[in-house]
Amino acid sequence: MLDINNYLNDLRKDAENTYALVNPHTLDVVEDVPECTDVQMEEAIQRAGEAFNEMKSMPSVKRSTILDEASRKVAAHKELFAHTIVKEAGKPIRFARGEVARAVETLKFSAIEARKLEGESIRLDAAPNGEGRDAYTIYEPIGVVGAITPFNFPLNLVVHKVGPAIAAGNTIVVKPAEKTPLSAMLLREALVQSGLPEDAFLIITGDGPRLGKVLLNSSDIQKITFTGSPEVGKLIKSQAGLKKVTLELGNNSALYVDESMRGKLKQIAAKTAVGAFAYNGQVCISTQRIYVHASIADAFKKELIQEVNNMQYGDPSKEATDVSALIDDQSQDRLMDWIEEAKGNGAAVIAGGEKVERGIKPTILTDVKRTDKISCQEVFGPLALLNTVSSAEEALHEMNESEYGLNAGVFTTDLSQAMQFGHELDVGQVFINDVPTLRFDHMPYGGRKNSGYGYEGVKYAIHEMVNRKLISLNYTF
Ligand code: NAD
Repeated sequence: MLDINNYLNDLRKDAENTYALVNPHTLDVVEDVPECTDVQMEEAIQRAGEAFNEMKSMPSVKRSTILDEASRKVAAHKELFAHTIVKEAGKPIRFARGEVARAVETLKFSAIEARKLEGESIRLDAAPNGEGRDAYTIYEPIGVVGAITPFNFPLNLVVHKVGPAIAAGNTIVVKPAEKTPLSAMLLREALVQSGLPEDAFLIITGDGPRLGKVLLNSSDIQKITFTGSPEVGKLIKSQAGLKKVTLELGNNSALYVDESMRGKLKQIAAKTAVGAFAYNGQVCISTQRIYVHASIADAFKKELIQEVNNMQYGDPSKEATDVSALIDDQSQDRLMDWIEEAKGNGAAVIAGGEKVERGIKPTILTDVKRTDKISCQEVFGPLALLNTVSSAEEALHEMNESEYGLNAGVFTTDLSQAMQFGHELDVGQVFINDVPTLRFDHMPYGGRKNSGYGYEGVKYAIHEMVNRKLISLNYTF
């Protein structure tokens, strides 16, 4: 059994306050979450620092076994995790189950990588005067990692920080999003029950700016790993001093559908609808800017409208629900303002465009100006634009006209065109014949420009959480 009540009660004892965690769909209070004090954060950092002594000397096979066992535990309690995500984030159950399945894999990848953290042998005799020495590198854990995570993938994005930290032999203090701390706590239970020392992974709940500052100011935190909005990411980097920093931020993901794909428009429209509207578009790589070649634009538009109009708004705990309440009312108001702005500048709504209960109907606009917020900012909601281009070159140009650079997608059968997009798109990841809303948990994953700094993807995240050391042996002395 995974029970988070003891952990929550311990936090409540020292917290000055609690706040109501509310189900975004029903508005029922799900939990009274402790608003932890700065002192609680400082104490957590200190305890994690003490636990580091045990973690750094733990053999990698043991760390790997703990992660493997935790992966099995999460899988064994997958419905509990999925329903917790539904309640705290309002994520439709099918997508919540998908997130849990990915978290199981991310833990498995972490278990594998824990055994593979290998250095290299360096030929020092390649340098003048270097002869007579053997040299090699090893990786050492850095100490206590501070993690700050967003609401939209409250489990798997926490695993993306905790799994690599443990695999490397670090300890970690997590400040989860205020609205979604519960699935992270279940994860901690799974890891502790799998043999992880209690203080190797601690969670402190409460206000982001205040508790984030404690993490940033602490000289015992060696690294900050942050996933969230670009505004907060920039602030964190500017305050992190010499700490290592990884920032996984937002995007306004672009997709191009080339005329060579004329025969597959129905399948592409189906993938595009899911890419743009799954979990209400509250996904950092949600398909937002869709560019389609003029010669197939009408046919593609028809297919896409049909797919989008078939999506069901409703209770996130129901199997048939595709879209549901947004995380909060401010998001609903902001998105309606953005739709109005684009309409005022000449855009046409071809699907949705209205509020429904606490959400917004999946909405597509055509003829959106590059300067409209729906184009140039991250919508983080169920809105996408569908603009027509007269050539692949024009699509490439439009796609790169962005302050962001995380994922992009291109559908084409033209190999040289595919390679041109692969090389010239100014993003971290390019997907040919897929929508940009795609991530596999072991691949390198990182953004450029306002989308981030550094990489995640288990192996790559580990490399950002270790110190490399070179050891040279002078065998002629
Ligand atoms: P957010 O930036 O508002 O909050 C993220 C976290 O930062 C929360 O835990 C919050 O409490 C904390 N925080 C807020 N202000 C802070 C401050 N001043 N100092 C320290 N911490 C602070 O983001 P959100 O609304 O929870 O999530 C949505 C954003 O996350 C979107 O921009 C989305 O694109 C991004 N995101 C990126 C990825 C990725 O992998 N690139 C994945 C998921 C989400």
